[in-house]
Amino acid sequence: MNIAILSRNPRLYSTSRLEAAAIQRGHTVRVLDHLRCFMDISSDNPSIHYRNEEFLKTHFDAIIPRIGASVTFYGTAVVRQFEMMGAYSVNESVAITRSRDKLRSIQLLSRKNVGIPITAFAHSPDDVDGLIREVGGAPLVIKLLEGTQGIGVVLAETKKAAESVIQAFMGLESNILVQEFIKEAGGSDIRCLVVGGKVIAAMQRQAPEGEFRSNLHRGGVANVVKLTSQERATAVKAAKVMGLNVCGVDLLRSERGPLVMEVNSSPGLRGIEEATGKDVAGMIIEFIEKNAKPNRTRTKGRG
Ligand code: ADP
Repeated sequence: MNIAILSRNPRLYSTSRLEAAAIQRGHTVRVLDHLRCFMDISSDNPSIHYRNEEFLKTHFDAIIPRIGASVTFYGTAVVRQFEMMGAYSVNESVAITRSRDKLRSIQLLSRKNVGIPITAFAHSPDDVDGLIREVGGAPLVIKLLEGTQGIGVVLAETKKAAESVIQAFMGLESNILVQEFIKEAGGSDIRCLVVGGKVIAAMQRQAPEGEFRSNLHRGGVANVVKLTSQERATAVKAAKVMGLNVCGVDLLRSERGPLVMEVNSSPGLRGIEEATGKDVAGMIIEFIEKNAKPNRTRTKGRG
């Protein structure tokens, strides 16, 4: 097959692993920087221009989008253009857009009865007290909607601290999410890698002493973990609700079962491959081999 990986940087671990896995399995592969693509959208013969080349319909059989959160808008437009050209996208543009909107994701998961922590959203609440009460009072977690890698995630241990953090974020005119603190998770969370409706690898990330955020970028350490069948089912359902074929589902272990924190459409492969020793990149390529048929992306760029 002729595969394109949409990635800003071919040297990133995940990108180079996917490229190597595709080559190893006998495919032709290109890494394209989606921000350097331009598209003629008015033409009835959609194409993509890249540097001095023009890719027409049927040029690529499949694409693997690795779109960073900061370029979701343009990146998903490029994915949509490839879909219109009949290429199979391992994650559809609509699903990527959906999963990037944290508020929308949580609303969708909750509507489909996937367990999530009690969560409230706010922008400029007059009733800060009511907001705090809504999630069961302090201690609670306050998150900046635009944050990643644990930045902008604050644990407020008292009601006073919660009030001041909420007010400070309000002063920044940002969207915030206020969430019950899952204390019993003990500073750890579980990353499940879902490919084609199956959890193919899972790791537990543990925060360092004195920290509640388990992000590897914040000094968390990863270990293999054995999932319960309920955890497995929750991760698979979360991926299905978001419409993602390949994703990372982050779970917290709570007294009332697994709770989904986030579903990531471009999960990093380094942590999970190193922790589990599994060839996750190879399994993603294998999934594409089984599923990539022309025009197989369900929405074909609609919506
Ligand atoms: P980011 O998307 O920036 O990584 P997360 O929402 O994943 O932010 O939060 C970072 C980390 O903080 C999580 O991996 C988890 O360990 C911890 N955490 C987040 N929300 C909660 C919560 N409600 N209760 C307990 N721990 C939490």
